[in-house]
Amino acid sequence: MYKAYLVSTGTELLLGKTIDTNSVFLAERLSNMGIKVVGKSIVGDNHEHIHNAISLGINSADIIITTGGLGPTRDDLTKEVACEVLDCPMVEFEAEVNKLREYFHKRNRNMPEINLKQAMFPVDAKIITNNNGTAPGMYLNKFGKTLICLPGPPHEIMPMYIQEVEPLLQKDYGQNHRQSAVITINIFGLGESQVEEMLADIVEDPRGCSLALIAKEGEIQLRLTAEGESTAHSQSILNELVDRIKSVLGDKIYGYNEDTLPVVVANLLLQQKLTLAAAESCTGGLLAKMLTDMPGSSKYFWGGVVSYSNEAKTKILGINDKNIFQYGAVSEPVARDMAVQIRKIASSAIGVSITGIAGPEGGSKTKPVGTVYIGIDSQQGTQVKQLHFVGNREAIRTLSAKSALDWLRRLLLKNEV
Ligand code: ATP
Repeated sequence: MYKAYLVSTGTELLLGKTIDTNSVFLAERLSNMGIKVVGKSIVGDNHEHIHNAISLGINSADIIITTGGLGPTRDDLTKEVACEVLDCPMVEFEAEVNKLREYFHKRNRNMPEINLKQAMFPVDAKIITNNNGTAPGMYLNKFGKTLICLPGPPHEIMPMYIQEVEPLLQKDYGQNHRQSAVITINIFGLGESQVEEMLADIVEDPRGCSLALIAKEGEIQLRLTAEGESTAHSQSILNELVDRIKSVLGDKIYGYNEDTLPVVVANLLLQQKLTLAAAESCTGGLLAKMLTDMPGSSKYFWGGVVSYSNEAKTKILGINDKNIFQYGAVSEPVARDMAVQIRKIASSAIGVSITGIAGPEGGSKTKPVGTVYIGIDSQQGTQVKQLHFVGNREAIRTLSAKSALDWLRRLLLKNEV
């Protein structure tokens, strides 16, 4: 299995002012490709520290990826130090100088000479275009290693990595070069220990695969890696294991690899040509956010109402305030009314509602913090579910929105909406 080492540079990362999300992003993308991240370093803008971190990377991995420190100022050192470690002199790339001049020209500014260092690379480096900033990245194969230098801002590095670096890595380290096969199984509605218990036989006898369980925001990801004698062999080992796991976990599996609950639900709605509207209370629009994170969501999502106060529930949704008075805003009848009313207002195929107590205050003996009602109304009738979550306010809200999506997914799969 090929190995990668990540080096995040920037003093702000050590001061706790910026969280090193770049290495998290890279680690996930690399491991999805079957490349093993063997370590990472976070270092400040310090020549010696960057040198040591990159040297460690070169000694322990095939691929070294640095992020940050590609700017024009004196403390932006990463590329220079990386080339020094690999003993590669840099030259000025004319095309890059022109691009930089153009960048400044478009903004009616003169290019400071200091920026010229952003156009310096080893002769045989591949330049990674940066459409969102001035610092281009580089991809360099040298002495059997691959050195990749990318800028710091996440909105710059992400498109650069996905559009240019990953295809290069695929070519150099992808399917044709490796023998392992990898898949992530995405699970919702079960706890970590429940999954472990259900899969006890498989964990004990994984038949040539390794398994890793990752619990994340109420979901479980099961990462399987098969190391066979060839890619085809690894793939067949993996397929066999996936089938065994499917037969145990069934529809608790909602997708694979990069599938997310909103994407899976969106695809089902599109396939079945159904539209959805949401009335949210305790989630404050989180369900609507999750559904509108994908472009093109207006094809299946009408929109939503954040009916947080009782007044919003009665005035916007037209809910009978007798129900609120008699049963409380967090109750089965109110969740039912919210789903029915939003569907009526939107003339959508499905209405979803969420009302609950996210805490930390507001709980009672009969309805403790974490009590949530989810309603779904469609031409097949109205259904309401009462759920109980444990956790802080954010966790309860996330779990509520995801549970609504997951329930809807199951109903859509069974044609029950
Ligand atoms: P540019 O010249 O385009 O700004 P750069 O490579 O010089 O690129 P840095 O100056 O190192 O980038 O970082 C710029 C900003 O990017 C930082 O202030 C920080 O907000 C963000 N950033 C840097 N490194 C990381 C990281 N590892 N994870 C998340 N954000 C980061």
